[in-house]
Amino acid sequence: MLWLSLKEREVDPLKERFLQGKPLGLPLYDIHGHLGGFSRDYPVFSGRVEQLVAEMDRLGVKRCLVFPIGIYGAEFQFQNDKVIQACQKYRQHFSGLALVNLNYPEKEIIKELERCRQAGLVGAKLIAAYQGAPAEGPGIEAVCEYASHHRWVVLNHGWGSLEFLKKILETYRQAQYVCGHLWLAAASLVNKYDHLWMCTCAFLSPESLPEAVRTMRADRLCWGSDLSDLHWGFTLGPIVLSSLPLKVKKRILSSNTRELFRKIGVES
Ligand SMILES: [Zn+2]
Repeated sequence: MLWLSLKEREVDPLKERFLQGKPLGLPLYDIHGHLGGFSRDYPVFSGRVEQLVAEMDRLGVKRCLVFPIGIYGAEFQFQNDKVIQACQKYRQHFSGLALVNLNYPEKEIIKELERCRQAGLVGAKLIAAYQGAPAEGPGIEAVCEYASHHRWVVLNHGWGSLEFLKKILETYRQAQYVCGHLWLAAASLVNKYDHLWMCTCAFLSPESLPEAVRTMRADRLCWGSDLSDLHWGFTLGPIVLSSLPLKVKKRILSSNTRELFRKIGVES
């Protein structure tokens, strides 16, 4: 009905703008992105930083939490340097996380984190499974202890078990923690711990987003684009086009991640 569609336009301009291919008119904050373009494991042929920044500006993405693309072996310093350079050049767009190889001795892991912290990075990215490292190993605890000491953020591709994540949250309490991919089973932890955040990326089934909204506290669910190998539309679409209330969409796309940036000392 015409009346209904007009009414809907009044209450959800995001959906209308998205379907017209326009920027949403909302400052977007992105909790999950990769920089670096080419790596041995994961080449992204259109991932030049300048291109990404131009597209972020066009779409109204104000700031993105970024880390290297790939998994890394021995070249993590080289890849972290790419993130450091991008964050230093585009301070208004990016806040960076250091990626370390969890198979390395703890001493080497901490040395690289310290090097990256001195260069301005604000946290660590973990991806143990892809490195063939234990999902709940001592290297992860060493990273979280360091992060807690410096009030960093730690984004993990997967936290292993709920028990392990609970132990991290209770032991290393001064850091902020992010589930890098939507993990519905962790809802009870999200609701209990202030310093745990949930990313929406990457694939959202029709049921998963409403369930996340229904089961998790409203201020911890955060949009993640997984740039630069996915276009922003791939991850924005399921949120913007959903039947969730406009105020919920705005929280997920904007104010929640902005609050995370504030908590780690990044004004944006
Ligand atoms: Zn990713």
